Amino acid sequence: MAALRMNGGEEKEEKAMEFTGKQIQEARERIAPFVDETPLLRLKALDAYLGCQVYVKAECMQKTGAFKFRGAMNRILTLTDEELSRGIVAASSGNHGRAIAYGARMKGARAVIVMPRTAPEAKKKAIMELGAEVVLCEAPERFEVAEQICMERGSTMIPPYDDYDVMAGQGTLGLELMEQCPELSAVIVPASGGGLIGGVSAAVKSVSDHTKVYGAEPSALPRYTESLKAGEPVLVPMKKSLADALVSQRPGLKNFPVVKAYVDGFAAVDDPFMLKGMKLLLMEGKVLAEPSACIGIGAVLEGRIPVGKEDKVCFVISGGNLGFEQLEILKDAAQFV
Ligand SMILES: *Cc1c(COP(=O)(O)O)cnc(C)c1O
Repeated sequence: MAALRMNGGEEKEEKAMEFTGKQIQEARERIAPFVDETPLLRLKALDAYLGCQVYVKAECMQKTGAFKFRGAMNRILTLTDEELSRGIVAASSGNHGRAIAYGARMKGARAVIVMPRTAPEAKKKAIMELGAEVVLCEAPERFEVAEQICMERGSTMIPPYDDYDVMAGQGTLGLELMEQCPELSAVIVPASGGGLIGGVSAAVKSVSDHTKVYGAEPSALPRYTESLKAGEPVLVPMKKSLADALVSQRPGLKNFPVVKAYVDGFAAVDDPFMLKGMKLLLMEGKVLAEPSACIGIGAVLEGRIPVGKEDKVCFVISGGNLGFEQLEILKDAAQFV
């Protein structure tokens, strides 16, 4: 497995400490006029299945259908009028692109979204309907293609996770859920590059010393599990998983030190358990989420995160963007619920 070296351990630790609750608080004020406060639902019907008191942060009900709008908007709002006039570029498997397209339109800026050819049709369509230009390419090439477009047009690239303003925006979700239920014992967060879990863990730990934060990632792409073991960001081989929003092969370099400092543990989850979680959330919880967003529930169903009957556990339901035809995949989960 190839290890990507960073600039030395000390700098890493410093960077984690540089990213604090203050930046997240500032982000919260900046994006407040644009972002919705999503509900924290107490889903008692799931308690018996998951062995704890179940709360879900329904970020599937956020504008654009996913939490990504928080980080995207926070970064967009730091751009000058001159920068906005030269446009915004994003490379994304879907939800980040949709968030950038939506935020750019709010600010009257042009957006170009570079997407893997394999991204779900529903996500491509939603982005085009927001008036953004969509450029399709092979998944591993997407950052290169986006950079090329930025160079040609002088546009600003907004990364999906490896950026302090983006991570601070995602962290606002953590401040929100701790206000909604200060007694939470644990928060379980789906993770890919780590913008969401980096921001949320820093936010939660800035206001609570009794709340654990756990990450959940696909066992096919265990980039955080492997990197935390190695002590530095590690590149894992590309493998298929049903979690189409959790496709990064390595932790973000700005996200990893934050995750290392604040996250209490990580679970690698198999696809069938994620699907089982999705079906449980839909049929018993009456909440429709995309597969990636259900990975935290899958982690508990698979026994990968310890929870107790009296624990108040919050599952971050990170997004709800899926096409109707994707519900077909739940047939595979028929044996479970
Ligand atoms: C992007 C995304 C994630 C992972 O976020 P990272 O910041 O890359 O870790 C999780 N769930 C959904 C629905 C997403 O769109």
